[in-house]
Amino acid sequence: MPTDSVTDRRSYLKAVAAGSVVALAGCTDSGGDGGDGGGGDGGDGGDGGDTPTDEAPQIVAGTAPGFPPFEIKEDGELTGFDVELLEAIVAETDYEFGGWKEFEFDALIPSLRDEKIDAIAAAMTITDERDNAIDFSNPYYSADQSIIVRDDGDFDPSDLDDLSGHPIGAQKGTTGENVIQTELIEKNKLDESNYKAYDNYTLAVQDLENGNIDAIVLDEPVGATFADQRSVEVSFIYETGEEYGFGVRKGDSDRQQALNEGLDAVQANGTYEELRNEWFGTN
Ligand code: GLN
Repeated sequence: MPTDSVTDRRSYLKAVAAGSVVALAGCTDSGGDGGDGGGGDGGDGGDGGDTPTDEAPQIVAGTAPGFPPFEIKEDGELTGFDVELLEAIVAETDYEFGGWKEFEFDALIPSLRDEKIDAIAAAMTITDERDNAIDFSNPYYSADQSIIVRDDGDFDPSDLDDLSGHPIGAQKGTTGENVIQTELIEKNKLDESNYKAYDNYTLAVQDLENGNIDAIVLDEPVGATFADQRSVEVSFIYETGEEYGFGVRKGDSDRQQALNEGLDAVQANGTYEELRNEWFGTN
């Protein structure tokens, strides 16, 4: 864990923003389980690794890059708060870290259930609906939604109602999309044709900058990061009080418990705070 890069992280991210976007756009093309899997032999037959007899059982992790600063591609390398945090957590457990696989966000839960991966680390909000399909670790981060707009435009909404009649976007399968559906479309405040669903928020930001949509609903820490890096700004916050958890397969109480204990350990030994400062600054 490079601690000497702490103060440079945010400025570095800004500096490489344009380059990252190219890498991210390329990444979304691969769609499926592209990732290089880094390290680990993937267990026998690549089944996500239940206990080859003479080795520690594995945790193969899945994420959806393009969600800064939680999961990003930086010079082709997967990194970000979730990525470093999960690796630090697994290092505290009896599990061997089995590498990363990359997916679009809405493919993560099916991939976990299909045993392509053993854990999800993707700024995934713990919701009742998801909790029916998978299990979650204890919460590790809290967030609200934000609404972002072009920073040189004259559209400056201050609440959800102001979005009526405007083309807006979100990433498929997210809580941001859920806000648009439940608070706007279902309440007849927004015509369904005005909602554009993207595979990835990075593509949504491109469309916002290009003027194809007027606003995006997305998690506030990510909206703030895009505002730092791109020609967009946070227009207002919509409080949802979400909590992120790491996903594990339903009934996989061993990995669930291991991740909870690992999370406790990195919170107690200062690693969590160090990573938080690295990726979100100290303010
Ligand atoms: N926290 C949001 C959700 O769980 C968005 C996550 C993401 O896009 N990676 O739906």
